[in-house]
Order: sequence, then structure tokens, then C-alpha cells
Amino acid sequence: MKLTNEYLLGIQKIVEQKNPAEPEFHQAVKEVLMSLQPVVEKNPKYIESGVIERLIEPERQIMFRVPWLDDSGKIQVNRGFRIQFNSAIGPYKGGLRFHPTVNLGVIKFLGFEQIFKNSLTTLPMGGGKGGSDFNPKGKSDGEIQRFCQSFMTELYRHIGPDTDVPAGDINVGAREIGYLFGQYKRITNTFTGVLTGKGLQFGGSLARTEATGYGLCYFTENMLQANGKSFEGQTVVISGAGNVAIYANEKATALGAKVVAMCDSNGYIYDKNGVDLAAIKQIKEVERKRITEYLKYHPEAEYHEGCKGIWTIPCDIALPCATQNEIDEESAKALAANGCYCVCEGSNMPSTPGAIDVYFENKMLYGPAKAANAGGVAVSGLEMSQNSERLSWSFEKVDKKLQGIMKNIFDNCEARAEEYGMPGNYMAGANIAGFLKVADAMIAQGI
Ligand code: NDP
Repeated sequence: MKLTNEYLLGIQKIVEQKNPAEPEFHQAVKEVLMSLQPVVEKNPKYIESGVIERLIEPERQIMFRVPWLDDSGKIQVNRGFRIQFNSAIGPYKGGLRFHPTVNLGVIKFLGFEQIFKNSLTTLPMGGGKGGSDFNPKGKSDGEIQRFCQSFMTELYRHIGPDTDVPAGDINVGAREIGYLFGQYKRITNTFTGVLTGKGLQFGGSLARTEATGYGLCYFTENMLQANGKSFEGQTVVISGAGNVAIYANEKATALGAKVVAMCDSNGYIYDKNGVDLAAIKQIKEVERKRITEYLKYHPEAEYHEGCKGIWTIPCDIALPCATQNEIDEESAKALAANGCYCVCEGSNMPSTPGAIDVYFENKMLYGPAKAANAGGVAVSGLEMSQNSERLSWSFEKVDKKLQGIMKNIFDNCEARAEEYGMPGNYMAGANIAGFLKVADAMIAQGI
């Protein structure tokens, strides 16, 4: 797919000129603009209202200093971010990422994608994202706690249950959300649903931990079935070994697939007998160790340094669940050459534009992240509902709602792709469906 529409090319130019050195943000915007070409050609109101010029500019960008004391008593300083991108359809909502690669451009790409993702869920949530360049690897529990407290000591003044509701993302799980919530409560003297992904004892939702991975598999299964296939009997490769990857593995296996590989940022394991998920959970969730430890449980499996090689393993279905741009053109070609016919994205923007071209050239089924991984934020939305009514729903009730939401998202992507003349292009369908709701709300609310 190419961006040829003059008006949208002009917008892309503005984005690149006004936001230099933010390649991930440029990439995320370009993908959406490409999909919107038939929309603006058919509906001039989206040009006349200046809605796209407004969408690409965050409503508010917050950057702040996060000083904290390490275990040796030395002062460390990190940078914190919260991008409140768009509140047309609800309070800002989106995760916090703690990773040394975090910078303004990364948080902006994630916040921009979140607008469309949240819209697709049909729940009333605007788009936002935040995080820090803090590297939690090798830090003690006390250091993590002090960092989270310092981070929230600034962030608290910008968020609230009806304003902006952060959640987890890479390296921000139940432990970090607990420390962030505790500090918010202490500073504001309120007990509110200001964060999602909370512990079950203090307002968390059952099935939130599983939601992104399970939701990814529900979306994938819908996409497979619409094309006469299913997970049953298929060989699957999953990158990552974190929250999304673990629960994607669990659900794909429950749906009859065999997951043969997973990775962390050091390397990947290949277990032709099927990855032993209990061992992965023990290594990653309990011990917080490296994936190479898997060989202690299964010496017959293989471990390879580096992550890229995971995409050379023959499989039917690939579920990237680690990080952005993890599948480049070369890896996509390797997947296609080895028989992979379906890529469905758990991580945000895991495929480079070159990789996406390869999927389409090879007529592979392609489930884009903002639709396929929307299950996490959808259950976060359900956590907000439970907090508002001060009730907790059963796992089964939340999971059933999640299944319904993911089916609805798939149907919507399929229908919008068809309506705008791109049948089977779920990427375009997701971008268009997500855009229409937000754009119409923005137009209705005036500038
Ligand atoms: P986690 O921190 O739980 O896990 C991330 C996993 O990816 C880890 O195994 C990590 O390895 C690996 N990883 C990170 N960076 C790289 C890299 N550069 N190369 C290879 N592997 C890497 O995060 P999540 O599972 O929560 O998030 C994974 C992806 O899913 C992210 O893109 C996130 O934005 C997206 N997502 C998450 C949602 C959620 O609900 N959690 C919701 C929607 C999307 P290591 O431990 O070595 O760093």
C-alpha cells in the first residue's frame, strides 16, 4: 500500500517536520493515513473539519524528572512521560512502559495507536500512553518501589478516574501498578480506580492479566474461521515471554495449537515437543530470570542467542508479542518461505512497513495490533466499570465479554475493509473503523 493522496501526503509532511527524530511516530501515522485514503476521498467532511490535523497533535504532552535513590544511596534521574493524545470519546487511557528505549517518539506512537484501539473496543476511552526510560532489569524490589513512588509523585496531578487512567505495558505489571496505586492513594487521600491492572484485593479485575494474550487468540481465531481455518492442529511461534506472550501461549494451546518457540530480549527457545508453559511461568513470573533457564527443565530443547532467528522457525501462525518493529522485511520473507500463512500482532507495531508489504504480497492473513491486542485495554475498561459500581465480576463473565468484544472488533474490521474496497485488509479496516468513531465525536464537539 502506498500513500498517494495529496492532502494526506501534506499531513505526513507536517508530522515529520514538526516532530523530528521520532521515526516510530512517523511510521504509526503513515500507516493510518494510508488506510484513510478512500475515507477522505469519499467523505470531504473529514478534510473540511481539519479533524486529521487535530488528531495528529496530542492534546497534552507531559515530560518530567523522576529522581530516585538507588540501593547504594546514589541519586539516579530518569525521564517520565505521559502523552494525553485524544479525549474525544472518553478519559485518556493507555499503559505505562518502563524500558531504556523509551523516548518521546516511542510514547507518541503508542499513544496515537491507542486512540484507534480504544475506539475499536466500543468502550468510552480516549487515547494516552506514558512511561519512562528507567531500566528495571537488575534493580532490587526496593529500587523499583522508590522509582514508582517518585514517578507517581509527579504523575498524580495529571491523572484521575475521569481524566486519565494509566495501566501496565512492558515491564509494568502487577507489582509496579501496586506501588504506583499506593503512592497515588497516599498523596491524594482517595481510593479510586485511577489505574487498571490492579491487584485483585484492591479493585483489580479477574481476567485482566490474561486479557491481552487471550484477546489476541480470540481475534486470531475469528480471523482464521472467517478464512476457513482454525488454531486446531497448527504450529505457532510466539515472540516474547512476558504478560502478552504467556497468555497468548495458554489460549492458543487451549484452542488446539502447538506453540514451539518463545523468546526474551537475549534469545529464543525452540521446543519441537511444544513449549512447557508451566516452566516459562516459573522462570518469568516467579523467578524473573532469563529464558535460557528453560534448558534446565527441558535439556532436549534448543536455545539460540538473539531474537531474530525465531522467525526462521517453520510455523503456520506467528504471534509477535515482544516489541515494536521486531519483524522486518527479511524476517517476514523467512516466515512466508517456511509456510507461515497468518501473522497476528500481540505487541504494538511489531511489523515494519516492509514486513507488512510481504504479508500482503504473499496473501497472508494479517491481524494488526490495534485490533488484535485490544483485549487488554478492553478489560481495563471493564475494570473501570467494576470500580465505578464497586463490584467485582466473575472470571467467566469478564472472559465472555472479552470474547464478544474481540469478535465485534474483527467483524467491524472486516466490514469496514469491505465497505472501502479493500476486502481482507484488516489493517485498513481497523484504522478506518477506529478513526470514524473518534473523528465523528471530534466534529460533533467542535474545535
Ligand atoms: P512484558 O514486559 O511483560 O514482556 C515483554 C517481553 O518482550 C519480555 O519477554 C521481553 O524480554 C521481550 N522484549 C522486550 N523488548 C524486546 C526486544 N527489543 N527484543 C526481544 N524481546 C523483547 O510486556 P507485555 O507482555 O505487557 O508487552 C509486550 C507487548 O505487548 C508490547 O509491545 C506492549 O506494548 C504490547 N501490549 C501489551 C498489553 C498489556 O496488556 N500488557 C496490551 C496491549 C499491547 P526481556 O524480559 O528480556 O526484556
